[in-house]
Amino acid sequence: MSKEKTYGIETQAIHAGAHPDPVTGARNTPIYQTTSYVFENADHAADLFNLQTFGFIYSRITNPTVATLEERLATLEGGRAACCAGSGHAAQFLAFFTLLEPGDHFVASRNLYGGSLTQFGISFKRLGWNCTFVDPTDPNNFKEAITPKTKALFIEPLANPGGIVLDLEAISAVAKDASIPVIADNTMATPYLCKPFEWGIDLVTHSTTKFLAGHGTSMGGAVIESGKFDWNQNDKFPSMTTPDDAYHGLTFYETFGDFGFTMKARAVALRDFGPALSPTNAFNTITGIETLPIRMDRHVENAQKVAEFLINHKAVSWVSYAGLPDSPFHDLAKKYMPKGPGSVFTFGVKGGYEAGVKVVEGVNLFSHLANIGDTRSLIIHPASTTHRQLSEEQQIASGAGPDVLRLSVGLETADDLIRDLDEALNL
Ligand SMILES: *Cc1c(COP(=O)(O)O)cnc(C)c1O
Repeated sequence: MSKEKTYGIETQAIHAGAHPDPVTGARNTPIYQTTSYVFENADHAADLFNLQTFGFIYSRITNPTVATLEERLATLEGGRAACCAGSGHAAQFLAFFTLLEPGDHFVASRNLYGGSLTQFGISFKRLGWNCTFVDPTDPNNFKEAITPKTKALFIEPLANPGGIVLDLEAISAVAKDASIPVIADNTMATPYLCKPFEWGIDLVTHSTTKFLAGHGTSMGGAVIESGKFDWNQNDKFPSMTTPDDAYHGLTFYETFGDFGFTMKARAVALRDFGPALSPTNAFNTITGIETLPIRMDRHVENAQKVAEFLINHKAVSWVSYAGLPDSPFHDLAKKYMPKGPGSVFTFGVKGGYEAGVKVVEGVNLFSHLANIGDTRSLIIHPASTTHRQLSEEQQIASGAGPDVLRLSVGLETADDLIRDLDEALNL
């Protein structure tokens, strides 16, 4: 693992966490399609259940195929450890369940994936976890929303759907002052384009469903810890620093140190709520990650060409892509994601809601669906789909107003994508 951290990211994407199978020599990571694992003897079983040795008990908690993916993701992010989950939303749940007590509070960017806005604003509230949403483009807004009950900040470094890039260093500094961690959802940038831990972020979550798996085949999620956050610096994190009844009084931070958060997320939240990643989906994700670097380079190249085409189109009123020199986020993108600001961005059509619907119905090569990060190019009209639960005011605030179309530019021939959009815009 230590050596893997010194390899380049293209090498890590192919090798980290994976070794030839010691029994069969199989070079690729097998799909361990098994629910359970035979114990060596009664003592071995007891040690496993007491978390006194590492190994496999039951695939709700650990599985060798999933473990390979966990190690690969931790290595790619430059973190200490990772815990996978059945979806990105499940991973977010594991992270917050490990951090928060009922009555606790966190501050989140208002520019998030629509499903995260609903998860945080409505469903988490029923668990007693309160979220305040702020405009993330001014780091001071996070500072002003922090209360004595605030236990974390949550951001998307590259925000879905607005093409917004945040000032990670400044937001980390706000959290450091308040002695709380920052969680970054790095789904849109991926560790190939952006490394949140290098800028002081403490935890990263992923929907591996998107660019990491990369082919629109497999749901999945992960929470990754940097290993650098000191959970003992105050009394805000009793789940990490006080004895856990579910494990005979074990204290996770004291026992597991810089991977204590991951252990707790796995041994308690994943064990007790059960949103495990399937080994087959882990396999598909591992395979997807092997080509992540070359795919992301092409995603970015195609997105840049499509954005430059749209900005000059008479039916388009604006394009929000940080790769365009006029974008207010261009400089932040150069700093935090020098290989390019991803391939998901929004643009506005003249004619509002009706015009937006006409474009999604007029394209042929772009698929009209609610996903991002596929090899295929995708288009959606957020106001009539992903963001329709929100009020029009909330839609506009989160960058999903009635005239907004969102693209996830895929890996097809750029000229074909441009022609398809041109035809739909000229209808
Ligand atoms: C899709 C997505 C999620 C949710 O992940 P699922 O795998 O769909 O549960 C969270 N954040 C972002 C940025 C996403 O794109």
